[in-house]
Amino acid sequence: MPVSGSTHPAADAPYPEAAGAGSEALWTRALATFPGGVNSPVRAFRGVGGTPRFIAEADGATLVDVDGRRYTDYCMAFGPLIFGHRDPAVRRAVEAAIGRGWSFGTTEPGSLELAELIRAHLPWVGKLRFVTSGTEAVMSALRVARAATGRSRVLKFAGCYHGHLDSLLVQAGSGLAEQTVPDSAGISKAVAAETLVAELDDLAGLDRLLDAHGRELAAIIVEPLPANNGLLIQRTAFLQALAARARDVGALLIFDEVISGFRVAFGGMAEISGVRPDLVTYGKLIGGGFPVGAYGGRPELLDLVAPAGPVYQAGTLSANPVSMAAGLATLKKLLAEPPYAALEARTAKLADGLEGALRDAGFPSALVPRFGSLFWMLLAGNGTVPRRPADCPPENRALYAPLFHGLLARGHYLAPSAFEVGFVSTAHADAALEALVADAGEVAFEIARRRRA
Ligand code: PMP
Repeated sequence: MPVSGSTHPAADAPYPEAAGAGSEALWTRALATFPGGVNSPVRAFRGVGGTPRFIAEADGATLVDVDGRRYTDYCMAFGPLIFGHRDPAVRRAVEAAIGRGWSFGTTEPGSLELAELIRAHLPWVGKLRFVTSGTEAVMSALRVARAATGRSRVLKFAGCYHGHLDSLLVQAGSGLAEQTVPDSAGISKAVAAETLVAELDDLAGLDRLLDAHGRELAAIIVEPLPANNGLLIQRTAFLQALAARARDVGALLIFDEVISGFRVAFGGMAEISGVRPDLVTYGKLIGGGFPVGAYGGRPELLDLVAPAGPVYQAGTLSANPVSMAAGLATLKKLLAEPPYAALEARTAKLADGLEGALRDAGFPSALVPRFGSLFWMLLAGNGTVPRRPADCPPENRALYAPLFHGLLARGHYLAPSAFEVGFVSTAHADAALEALVADAGEVAFEIARRRRA
């Protein structure tokens, strides 16, 4: 099925200068224009090598690059597109919104409707505020937590990503707060020192940090389904313990559900785990693929935000009407036709199939952890479900590159990094999932053969 009826989709693409130029030629130009050739680092293929594909268009589960090559997409814009690319309901809502105007800088009804729908179904979101990205949502939630507690330090977990705000781009040095160092250049030591880093799935280690520093903490922030260092599924008991520990030390618990929110269940991991965060951050799905973020929580916490309270936070494009329309269409469709059980069953079948195929092909410890519609391929595992970054054997990084390229050549677009998860949408046909399993087996067999040679 041609994506837009043309045999060479780039020929009628909105960027004629890109048509037929091919990814190679565009990449040369991009390297001269953008840092590292990209507008967000993972897109550069640094983790897998080779030339990034320039995508001309997409529909359903299919990407088409400027050279006319087609791929089944498992990256799915890193998560927002649970109904696939250009879902008709979302598209209709967006087109209608654009017909009314795309930015007002005023109060408008679209954000109110979306927020009321969220509040009606997520009791832990008493009030919320829309922003433009997940990063902004997290940054703002931390500001609220600091204002609410009068404390400045924050505890995060190694392997959890919360956007590129200065204070959370840090790693632990030996797990000790005093040795916390920035993970990026350009971050002041003073800001980095405000962040403590603990290990996931390690309550004893967490308690040691809390004994020493618990009373300095404004917040404990966690991805309740860590999905930025592969998929590190946490035990519910760990999430419950975080809520209890946060309460004990007088810190707020922040669930960063930018990936998991509305994706693994309508109410994300808060719904699945039953653990109620004080503050929660969302992104991705609530904009239906358009720029968005949101932070919410107990009303008295959100009432600290300007103009109701003293925490300043603002945005020219906040609650952009097009993003709000796309998000509302997505969430309404999620409620009208809940896809969760079917997506989970199909993802389970895919993950089991992949795991079997990779093991049969010569990687007997391969693992394919999955949760809801998320999955992650590990060619080498250590025999247990990985719950911390250290549980993932380092050789996976080198093994992922040939797996990625072998699958890309066969028409499957996985995220170009061993640390990104795969996403299944309702637009993925069974035949496509079966083809991925078969091709992954073939590619893995070839990798194993070359390693033996
Ligand atoms: N938190 C989590 C859990 C994320 O996965 C991401 C981005 N993938 C962010 C925050 C940051 O969101 P954004 O890229 O929209 O700034």
